[in-house]
Amino acid sequence: MKDWNALASDLYDGSFRPMFINGKWCPAQSGAEMDARNPANGSLLATVPQGGEADIDAAVKAARAAFEGPWAKFTPFERQALLLRIADKFEAEWERLCLSDTLDMGMPIQRTLANSRRVLGMLRFYAGQAVMIHGQTIPNSFPGEIYASTVREPVGVVGAIIPWNAPIAGSVWKIAPALATGCTVVLKPSEEASLTVLMIARLMQEAGLPDGVLNVVTGLGADAGAALAAHADVDKIVFTGSTATGQAIARAATGTLKRVSLELGGKSPVIVCKDADIDKAVPVAAMSVFANSGQICIAGSRLFVAREIHDEFTRRVAEFAAGLKIGQGIDEGTDIGPIISARQADRIAGFLSDGPAEGASVLTGGHRAEGAALKGGHYIQPTVFSGVTDDMRIAREEIFGPVISALPFDDLDEVVTRANDTPYGLAAGVFSTNLGTAHKLAHRLKAGSVWVNMYHAIDPAVPFGGVKMSGYGREGGTEHLEEYLDTKAIWINA
Ligand code: NAD
Repeated sequence: MKDWNALASDLYDGSFRPMFINGKWCPAQSGAEMDARNPANGSLLATVPQGGEADIDAAVKAARAAFEGPWAKFTPFERQALLLRIADKFEAEWERLCLSDTLDMGMPIQRTLANSRRVLGMLRFYAGQAVMIHGQTIPNSFPGEIYASTVREPVGVVGAIIPWNAPIAGSVWKIAPALATGCTVVLKPSEEASLTVLMIARLMQEAGLPDGVLNVVTGLGADAGAALAAHADVDKIVFTGSTATGQAIARAATGTLKRVSLELGGKSPVIVCKDADIDKAVPVAAMSVFANSGQICIAGSRLFVAREIHDEFTRRVAEFAAGLKIGQGIDEGTDIGPIISARQADRIAGFLSDGPAEGASVLTGGHRAEGAALKGGHYIQPTVFSGVTDDMRIAREEIFGPVISALPFDDLDEVVTRANDTPYGLAAGVFSTNLGTAHKLAHRLKAGSVWVNMYHAIDPAVPFGGVKMSGYGREGGTEHLEEYLDTKAIWINA
């Protein structure tokens, strides 16, 4: 077993970590700093700049100068080569990168190592796409020799704002396609987890990223984040986070009518039909929520189970949950790591009290987890509620913690109506061995992604995103490139 603790003290020793603007490592102009603490035990990992409006402005100026200067001269093949070098660099530093995420936001190290690895694929997929972007020559209605063609142009300076729950994947999935199209980026990580994003910027710089192409401004959402969303010289905002913040960003962006894409919250349904393969469905349905301690936007937190198998299925999900090991992310045996902050843990604990108060039964969990090994952190037991009805708060609101609400259903029409009865539409899961049933449900569920007899598959080549109040725009696949491109029509009278 690797000595992750020794590597950890090597990585972060409590010292100041500057932010990254125009290829330089700098403090906030105000001199303000914020603590970066390990949510597993509360220890101080580092301090980082608390950037504000002036820092955002400097970063946007750098991104604009790079966009119109040296970066514009990079050919698509040079952008491709850079993205491939960045992927190789990340691969060489993979363990340190993953450990940084585990320390900074608590994700169990085994999950970070395995799950975040798709970012290497993202970088290589978009390296491939960089040389595939092209327009068309279009036959038109004008008589004579009038030629119409299109070219695809990068939108310009992209402002990217991300949450804390998956900093490696969250940042790279925004940066890689932006660089492939020729855009430049100002990235504001979450104040809860900035360190890995700073490490990513450093690795990119070492791989040869020109100054100003990526800038990272650490700081608070209401300050640095709001300044980025409203900045007049930002052409596009890509945001991942809560629906409430997404709404604030969309409002701020109207000032300059900049383009916006939003990956927001969810309350995703998982539907287990009476013909499901129960042995296979139990662990997948459970981990659709418990992975990353439930701090996942796609958490399948409304578990609809056919009444015929409801009691057996929920009992087995509860047994599975009770067997999960709660601990610090750095311990290789940990399944359930800490919750990011006291505020977030208090919020989840509020739902744990609400459930029984509204009439739900606790099949397992239902409390904070405590113990000597968990001291200084905030941990929540994986929890399964049964006897839940659609109107309860635990069935309606995004909890963003390890909490499943199980709801019985009687027929497919009914479950589709109930599953779709939510403001959200990010993801959904279906378990059935009947292909016809699976198809029917997959087509009728209102969600950006539907997984059948699986969950959680996210791939660089496949678009991901939400409908309704889970947002708009897509990340992944060639659709993601569209988010960063404009189309110009060129007419020539020959
Ligand atoms: P959040 O909305 O509180 O914060 C996200 C980011 O926005 C942070 O960087 C924050 O500093 C910034 N921010 C906050 N207020 C801002 C403002 N007024 N203007 C500009 N920026 C501002 O979200 P969070 O608590 O960090 O993350 C959890 C949420 O993210 C959940 O709702 C979850 O579902 C969602 N999420 C969605 C996806 C997805 O792909 N759909 C992925 C991960 C997380």
